[in-house]
Amino acid sequence: MAKKSLGERFKTRLIEEHGKMLAVINRNRVAEGELELDGTEDEGDISTFSHSKEVLHGLLESDFQKFLAIREALQRIEQGDYGICIECDEHIHEKRLVAVPWAALCIGCQEKAENESSDHQSARPVMATALSGEGEEE
Ligand SMILES: [Zn+2]
Repeated sequence: MAKKSLGERFKTRLIEEHGKMLAVINRNRVAEGELELDGTEDEGDISTFSHSKEVLHGLLESDFQKFLAIREALQRIEQGDYGICIECDEHIHEKRLVAVPWAALCIGCQEKAENESSDHQSARPVMATALSGEGEEE
């Protein structure tokens, strides 16, 4: 049995995931359309309507990002650089690819990226607490 390349071994899984994500995104789009129709019929329900629409948008966005990541991974397979970190050009650990076949970053670069983005996200609440005065709500 010939040893398959990294890209060939993960390609089937990525194509499967790609199909699943397409189905999820299309389903959400349909659901969103239905909600818009319902909202125009009954103005009394508008708050419930916009709330569920926000939930749908949240779903759609994270699904869409995963979908894009899968597509990029498939492109990297075609280009022959699948499994190589797009940030530092190091090989991504195979265990990581088994868990996340569409990973574009090695674990080191991923952690770095997550630390950077979580710093940005936590900056605001911390600032807001400092400005409103700590312990005032007790
Ligand atoms: Zn890296």
